[in-house]
Amino acid sequence: MKIYDERWFDLYARKLTRRDLLRLGRDAAACIALSTVVPPTSRVLRRSRLRANPFASGVASGDPLDTGVVLWTRLDPAVLEGSGLIGSAAGRAGPAIEVRWEIAEDDAFRRIARRGTASALSELGYSVHAEVDGLQPGREYWYRFDAAGEASPIGRTRTAPAPRSLPDQLRFAFASCQNYEYGFFTAHRHLSAEPLDLVVHLGDYIYERRFPRLPVRLHEGVVEVKSLAEYRARYAQYRADADLQAAHAACPWIVTNDDHEVANNFAGAISEDDASPAEFLLRRAAAYQAYYEFMPLRRSSLPQGPDIQLFRRLDFGALLRIHVLDTRQFRSDQACGDGVKPRCAATLDAARTMLGDTQEAWLAAGLRTSGARWNVLANQVMMAPAAAGSEDDPTYRLDTWAGYVPARNRLLSSIAAAQASNPVVITGDIHLSWVAELKTDFDDPSSPVMGIEFVGTSLTSGGDGNDSNGEEQIRRNPHMKFFNSRRGYVVCTVTPAGWTSDYRTVPFVSRPGAPIETKARFVVESGRPGVERG
Ligand code: FE
Ligand code: CA
Repeated sequence: MKIYDERWFDLYARKLTRRDLLRLGRDAAACIALSTVVPPTSRVLRRSRLRANPFASGVASGDPLDTGVVLWTRLDPAVLEGSGLIGSAAGRAGPAIEVRWEIAEDDAFRRIARRGTASALSELGYSVHAEVDGLQPGREYWYRFDAAGEASPIGRTRTAPAPRSLPDQLRFAFASCQNYEYGFFTAHRHLSAEPLDLVVHLGDYIYERRFPRLPVRLHEGVVEVKSLAEYRARYAQYRADADLQAAHAACPWIVTNDDHEVANNFAGAISEDDASPAEFLLRRAAAYQAYYEFMPLRRSSLPQGPDIQLFRRLDFGALLRIHVLDTRQFRSDQACGDGVKPRCAATLDAARTMLGDTQEAWLAAGLRTSGARWNVLANQVMMAPAAAGSEDDPTYRLDTWAGYVPARNRLLSSIAAAQASNPVVITGDIHLSWVAELKTDFDDPSSPVMGIEFVGTSLTSGGDGNDSNGEEQIRRNPHMKFFNSRRGYVVCTVTPAGWTSDYRTVPFVSRPGAPIETKARFVVESGRPGVERG
């Protein structure tokens, strides 16, 4: 019944085989399946026996369907321990704690739509992922939890529109890269006040270690997190931030991760440090488990050992299909390092992959069968190449799609071949705002525009940024239409006729209290590839 237990540490000691990992994954899946059909011997408490409110990480919802959504919360193990509800022996499985949830049509909870109970298991860090079904399409709801006589904060969520309907409008924000040490989450506070149906988070939700820039506030605990306990503590610290909690409580999120949820610039089973692939996969398993525990993900994303299912599709009526990508777990190692360098021959090797064969085929099928007016690829690393360095010997960031040229061309060709309507790529990772027109051949200026990439800046990573307009970068890269390094997020307003991206930025993140402004607006007309300044 244990998902992460001392066997992991045994395996650490004696190294592990792939078979070990698969077996552990199966145990984890069996445990979850069991916990949903067999009522666990939980302690249901009628009156609060807790010394503090256990919902210290707030609430969240995610992966909305037309009939339901996943509701998330987590009980703080320190509160449970301090109240004697669970033993404090590290690594021992405690009793399951029963958590009640309810979801209502109004914020006063007079019209309850559904209610139920879920078990918070020590094996999953006392997280709760309640998958609610039977809701009405395209409407907002409010939800809350209670456990051991204590109530959670209230969250607002929203179901997706009915499958074949064509809504007048959908508005979502996308964001990425929230290094706690480099800034205050003021942008999250502003995001929580936007009228949004949805947030898409493209990764670097936590940072696993310190980077060389003066911190404005500090990570707690070890400098670099590697074990499950350390990753959990890092997420708990981020999630204690009131601004981040407000953004999660405001609307459902669709999340995917990038490298820093695990380790800087990892590629598949390859890490930057000297860890062997077997050692690194143990670390990846711990990182993915903590990620799952803290994110509003469905059970289909429960990690199996070092593997997690994050690529998935979400539909919003006939208006929008979001193809969520995972560009880390299956990629080939960076070709010749991961810095900003001239391309070595390996960057042109067609055997190298960014998505892996399975995900590539899955994406091609999802584009071919899509009836949606807009097809969004929720992507991590930049797809359009950004040449820098000298004109004769340009350099590229080789961790991005620019270091995987044939894989990128395969992807762009498959989008074109699928004739998917209005492809739009949304991207994180790079801590800069860019707008790019996508082409199947970037080296040929007459190659037609076949889609748009909106690259969102970081929420805090890299610190305050500045207002350089990137004149030189844009001159060097004629497919680029915008550059900015202020922090923030992008609000996308999508209608059947058009798409508007508002680059919402804050002038500083190094201290609290920054106002929000719209740095730039870009519009795309349905059926007309190309982007215009709005
Ligand atoms: Fe980042
Ligand atoms: Ca990254």
